[in-house]
Amino acid sequence: TIAFSDALARVKPSATMAVTQKAREMKAQGIDVIGLGAGEPDFDTPDHIKQAAIEAIRAGKTKYTNVDGIPELKEACAAKFRRDNNLTYRPEQINVSPGGKPVIYNAFAATLNPGDEVVIPTPYWVSYPEMAALCGAEPVFAEATVEDGFKLRPETLDAAITQKTRWVILNSPSNPTGAAYTGSDLEGLAEVLRRHPHVLILTDDMYEHLVYDDFRFATIAEVAPDLYDRTLTMNGVSKAYSMTGWRIGYAGGPAPLIKAMAKVMSQTTSNPCSVSQWASVAALNGDHSFLEERNAAFRRRRDLVMEAVTAAQGLTAPLPEGAFYVFADCAGLIGRTSKAGKRLDSDIDVCDALIEEARVAVVPGTAFGAAPGFRISYATSDEALKTAGERIVEFCGSCR
Ligand code: PLP
Repeated sequence: TIAFSDALARVKPSATMAVTQKAREMKAQGIDVIGLGAGEPDFDTPDHIKQAAIEAIRAGKTKYTNVDGIPELKEACAAKFRRDNNLTYRPEQINVSPGGKPVIYNAFAATLNPGDEVVIPTPYWVSYPEMAALCGAEPVFAEATVEDGFKLRPETLDAAITQKTRWVILNSPSNPTGAAYTGSDLEGLAEVLRRHPHVLILTDDMYEHLVYDDFRFATIAEVAPDLYDRTLTMNGVSKAYSMTGWRIGYAGGPAPLIKAMAKVMSQTTSNPCSVSQWASVAALNGDHSFLEERNAAFRRRRDLVMEAVTAAQGLTAPLPEGAFYVFADCAGLIGRTSKAGKRLDSDIDVCDALIEEARVAVVPGTAFGAAPGFRISYATSDEALKTAGERIVEFCGSCR
């Protein structure tokens, strides 16, 4: 038998992947299940981006590159930060990694020691606590409630910070809730962070471009320039440009941190895929008009899901500002019994019953540190969402 590391033992496998897998297996058996578990857009990568990749291959740009990104991509990232976020980063302040996930992991690997704490607002994206744990640190959770629209209160953040806190993570718009902080929300959080100068701030802005109803995106280093020197502003091409498979994420931050992250990469992944980097240059520098139509579709789908959640007995959800998720609180179903006679003692029971009886796959809130509830991903067709919505309403109404 193989002995595994203590660090590995602390890590949970991805719950979103487990649900997706179960839905896939049921589909393979010919069961008509609607999968609302996945965390990726159903749109294709825009053509001009694919074209840039094809040209890069033809031009032989297929070799090792600078470890933490080609100069052209670093420049495109810097231009993006200037254009969209009013932030100035020099090339030595930019990291490009093989995805948004590795940006975070490289930052953690470069800074965390055993016993360090990482403050993570709940509901959280599944990977934050696991990556912190892999690096030997302790995740510390700060609850954002459904009543507050899943936005962290400054006093809750303050209470979670200790002398051992190394990082505070902010993620807006959020996976799994779609909640996004306004500039003034961020000012409230900045006020707290200002009082704790030993804390680094990681802001995960992956869903920046996916916001609806004229919501104005803001990021903390822009709102609070005095925190710029200890903020890592992370972003990526995965969600906005439907490039999840290309594996490019990037960040702007303090030069010494960026240098340390490159050191980690130099002995682990080396550079991100050269061809994907050239595609990302085209994505960041290119035409963004395709976003308007896609966001209109996402907004329409969000509204379809919200209609169902509002109509369903026992569910409540705040209206999300962005991303492509609705997080439904299902406290009203706990303690009840489903039509087929299953007792619903937890959100895991609710999600099991939903997939078994209503043929809708969603991810339990437990996976995001927020029970009882579940995440509905609406990155799928209107038709599928309409049918899924009817099934959810019918299921909830039949619980006794
Ligand atoms: N951050 C958030 C909030 C996400 O939802 C995701 C993807 O699901 C990522 C980061 C990771 O992005 P990537 O696929 O580029 O690693």
